[in-house]
Amino acid sequence: MAEEIHSVLVVGGGPVGLAMAAMLGKARHKVALFERWPTRYGLPRVGGIDAEMMRIFHSLGMGGHWFDDMIYPRSYSWHGINGEELQDLRRGRPEVEVSGWPGFVLQYQPYLEDELAKVVESSPTAELNRGWEVIEIRQHSDHLELKAREMKLTAAGEIAPTGATRVARGRFLVGADGANSFVRSIVGQPIEDLGLTTRWFHVDSRINAAGRGKITRVAQYCEPSRPYMCMPMGKSHYRFEFMVMPEDDEAELLKPETAWHFMEPWLRQGDVEIVRHMIYSVACRLAGNWRHGRILLAGDAVHQMPPKLGQGMCSGIRDVFNLAWKFDRILNGKAGLSLLDTYTAERLPHVRDLIELSAHHTRLVCEIDPERARARDEMYLAGRAPALKPLPWLRDGIVYGSSGSADRVAGRLGPQGRISLNGVAGFADDLMGTGWSVVTMKDVQTNLRADRRIFLESLQTRFLRIARNASKAGRGEAIDLDGVYGRFFGEAGVESVLVRPDFYIFGSAGSAQEFDGVVDDLHHQLVEHQ
Ligand SMILES: Cc1cc2nc3c(=O)[nH]c(=O)nc-3n(C[C@H](O)[C@H](O)[C@H](O)COP(=O)(O)OP(=O)(O)OC[C@H]3O[C@@H](n4cnc5c(N)ncnc54)[C@H](O)[C@@H]3O)c2cc1C
Repeated sequence: MAEEIHSVLVVGGGPVGLAMAAMLGKARHKVALFERWPTRYGLPRVGGIDAEMMRIFHSLGMGGHWFDDMIYPRSYSWHGINGEELQDLRRGRPEVEVSGWPGFVLQYQPYLEDELAKVVESSPTAELNRGWEVIEIRQHSDHLELKAREMKLTAAGEIAPTGATRVARGRFLVGADGANSFVRSIVGQPIEDLGLTTRWFHVDSRINAAGRGKITRVAQYCEPSRPYMCMPMGKSHYRFEFMVMPEDDEAELLKPETAWHFMEPWLRQGDVEIVRHMIYSVACRLAGNWRHGRILLAGDAVHQMPPKLGQGMCSGIRDVFNLAWKFDRILNGKAGLSLLDTYTAERLPHVRDLIELSAHHTRLVCEIDPERARARDEMYLAGRAPALKPLPWLRDGIVYGSSGSADRVAGRLGPQGRISLNGVAGFADDLMGTGWSVVTMKDVQTNLRADRRIFLESLQTRFLRIARNASKAGRGEAIDLDGVYGRFFGEAGVESVLVRPDFYIFGSAGSAQEFDGVVDDLHHQLVEHQ
């Protein structure tokens, strides 16, 4: 092992692999990513992302054209057989969510991937190797070795090997190589089909001047003859998704004239340029174990779900953000490999809930039996539809509740918003930095016992104290500019939260004494993984 050894090797340069490399590069760990395509894919899949993603991507310093192009729709409506609105998934939601950003953001994936790649490329410790397909992986007791072959683009737009190969070594490997994951096959990890596969034909287009403003909202038309949806993907693109029906001739669907015909009620030729027109199968699939020794699987390699909730990629980004802080502790010698056991325990149930939720939404909007579709519409129009379920939270792993407490807030997302602190306004993450943090309405710091203070200092914990009364904010107390903290603490009924580096709450406290218990439990849990 005399040769150079990376901290982490990443296989796959989709959004999840790029995000993993960006997070590790930002933390100055030596990371090398291998993506088989020599150029970036360049076409969108992901349209919608949520507030949690915005917080994560913002913390990586992303912005640029991706950010300028995005939009924050105030509406995501479902329409019944006769066009009536059945529900609006955004109605009643606050302007900004607990993460400090709007809860539904429409953006253009190639711009997102450009920004992620920029973060990777700007890190002196990260390598982005495009045009290298990983073909062999060997796991040893203290490191791994991969072999990759160089790929070039052919005139037909395919990829083919050049004949060159290379070997790279690393302490860990993340397989973020998509639904047909090679890494998953190497470790022999099966992926279970949970049922509900639907087929869709997509038409994505770039908006010309004549087409601006023609589609301004996200609308799902639940017509049993052919369910479909349309939406803007940022300011520059539109998307249409039409369900493939049993009687369809798929070759006909893929003709450009069919795409124009289907989009006719909204768009005319000249309004847009079609950039992508293809048929997709979307499945519900989940793998049972995401860690195999030094190999970790993430993103579509271990879970796939219908895109109706816009949570497929979001889940993959959560996977690697979860891994990022754990790798950081291990690579800095503060934790042992057992910390990685908490990865599947924390992430799998969260993703399972989201798969179930997105499958439930898909079944409702994709009802092709006219009688059942009518019954669905009647249920919604009579106000008898079940309330929307909230997004899941962490229930196991490094979470206070998992060790027996009845903490109602542990495992949920911690609050972040714009604050004014000592006369400077901005996002709390920008002003305070990210990592372990305590967000509190009380001074829990001054009287902290020395051993607890030393422990929190060893985690470089930041304390953010929110003023109860904005007009009387003292020095070091932050004013809650968007009401995010007031709303959070009001609803949670607690005084303080101890938040993990991936923005999930470890535990909460209603008093200084309870806070001591939360700190002690975190200490205990982290010591267990040293
Ligand atoms: C139509 C559609 C709409 C969607 N909409 C949304 C949405 O609105 N919101 C959302 O959150 N999600 C959405 N998703 C889901 C989202 O697209 C995926 O979850 C996401 O792309 C998964 O990212 P990934 O990086 O895990 O995998 P991928 O994007 O599949 O990337 C895997 C990469 O690995 C590379 N690779 C594979 N094998 C190798 C190898 N052996 N060596 C090197 N490289 C390799 C591939 O070339 C590829 O670039 C949608 C999906 C679809 C299909």
